[in-house]
Parts: sequence; C-alpha cells; structure tokens
Amino acid sequence: MSGTSPRALVTGGSGGIGTAICRRLAAAGLFVYVHANRSMPAAQSIAAQITASGGRASAVQFDVTDAAATGTALEQMLAEGPIQVLVNNAGIHEDAVFPGMSPGQWQRVIDVSVNGFYNVTQPLMLPMIRTRWGRIINISSVSALMGNRGQVNYAAAKGALNAATKALSLEVASRGITVNAVAPGIIAAGMAAAGTAAAGTGAARPGAPTFDAAAINDIVPMKRAGSPEEVASLVAFLASADAGYITGQIISISGGMI
Ligand code: NDP
Repeated sequence: MSGTSPRALVTGGSGGIGTAICRRLAAAGLFVYVHANRSMPAAQSIAAQITASGGRASAVQFDVTDAAATGTALEQMLAEGPIQVLVNNAGIHEDAVFPGMSPGQWQRVIDVSVNGFYNVTQPLMLPMIRTRWGRIINISSVSALMGNRGQVNYAAAKGALNAATKALSLEVASRGITVNAVAPGIIAAGMAAAGTAAAGTGAARPGAPTFDAAAINDIVPMKRAGSPEEVASLVAFLASADAGYITGQIISISGGMI
C-alpha cells in the first residue's frame, strides 16, 4: 500500500449497499468519495456523517453512462491524487420477461453496468498503476451466475462485469492491483425493499418478480436476506492489504444460494 492511506471512490454510494460500503471503508481509514447520480443530497448527508464521526469523505455526482461528464468529474478527483480503491457499485435493474423486454430496458441496464464500468474504471487505471497498488471491486450479482427469470438484461450486464473483472485482473496483477467481483444474493437494502427481493438483485419495481419472506425461505439456504453491512465487510476485506493475493475472483455472498 502507498505511504498515506488510499483514497476510494464508491459509485452508487448514495444507495443502500453503497452507503454501507462507504461507511465501512471510511472506518478503515480511507478517504471516500461518496458518489451519486440522482440522489446527491443522500451522498452529501452520508459524507457529512462520515466526517462528523472523524472520517474523511466528500460527495461527488455524475451519471456513469455519460462518458464526458464522468471523465470531467474523475479529472477533478485525480487532480487531488490517484484513486487507489474503486468500488463499481452503481447498478440498476429493469426486469421483464425476455419476449416483452424493450430495447430501452436492455440498453439502460447494460449501459450502467458495462459502459459505466468502462467510463469510470479506464481513466483511473494509469494513475493507479503508477502507484503500484490498487483495489478494484465490482459489485455483480448471483443473477449472473445462476440466471434469473425476468433478468436476461441484468444477468448479461453483470456477467459482462464478471468477465471484465477476470480479464483486467490479468493485465494489472503484476502492478500490485487486484480486481475482484462480489456477487450478492438477496440483500435487504437499496433496490430490494426488505423481504421483497428478486433473487440476486432485489426488486421493488412494478412488474418485477418479488419474493416475500416465504420465498426467501425457499430460495436462500440460510433463510434470510443478507444485510448491506455484510456485503460491505467483504468489500472492505478485498480493499485491505490483507487481501493482496486474491484477484480475478467472483465471490458470492448469498447465504448459500450458489
Ligand atoms: P440502490 O438502488 O440502492 O443503489 C443503486 C445506486 O446506483 C444508487 O446509488 C444510484 O445512484 C446508482 N446509479 C444508478 N444508475 C446510475 C447512473 N446512471 N450513474 C451513476 N450512478 C447510478 O441499489 P442497491 O444498493 O441494492 O444495489 C447496489 C449494487 O448492488 C447494484 O450494482 C446492484 O445491482 C447490486 N446488487 C444488489 C442486490 C440487492 O439485493 N440489493 C443483490 C445483488 C446485487 P442515485 O440513486 O444517486 O441515482
């Protein structure tokens, strides 16, 4: 690790899982950029809470699908120094059975997870490589590993993220940079209203498949939804010096679903 504590960017830090990740990384001593797209007040509030409790954080806003806006925002952050921990957590789902899936539903989901990954990650690589230390953690989903009805778009997007994780890990392994994906199952947060989550993503939107407590009981061997803090703990470990020999892995956190 570099001499000073690393600076981290958590995309989708304004969301349920992202908030827990921001808090956990800040508690580990990292400076954290809490990122938002539409929910900047939430990101500002989380950054303020972290600062009030003795941590270091700042809120940033950009749409990860907008390459130009993302590039401009990253340039400003890089002017302060390299970002050595990147958590690509921003994601959306727009569920529909495939015969009824519109081009927009396909494109928007792919755009955030796949093009968003490129727009955010690529500009950060050279500054990270120059420091010879880095951590990239991509938030995927068990939907990419198991499939899930109504989520052909989402599974494809997260599957692409998993493949990018493996390929990039090979490119940068010799530079002290690890690249891993975390694949949550049903997490009671953010996209997923507690107890009403579509497998692997959560689903609170109209038309999305939902699972109540009984369904979770059937689907999840541990018979409960996971918490955002449990996901954040895994991310924090992967971001730590202790995880320096783990790279190119897709790690499920799903109560035994897969
Ligand atoms: P939330 O809906 O709470 O958070 C999603 C985050 O993504 C928000 O912060 C949102 O920002 C951000 N985001 C969405 N679109 C864009 C965009 N175009 N540009 C920038 N940011 C964007 O969801 P969760 O916390 O539940 O999910 C976080 C991640 O975990 C996602 O990648 C999701 O796929 C994954 N996941 C979640 C599971 C769950 O059960 N909850 C299960 C498996 C995976 P804003 O609100 O500011 O617009």
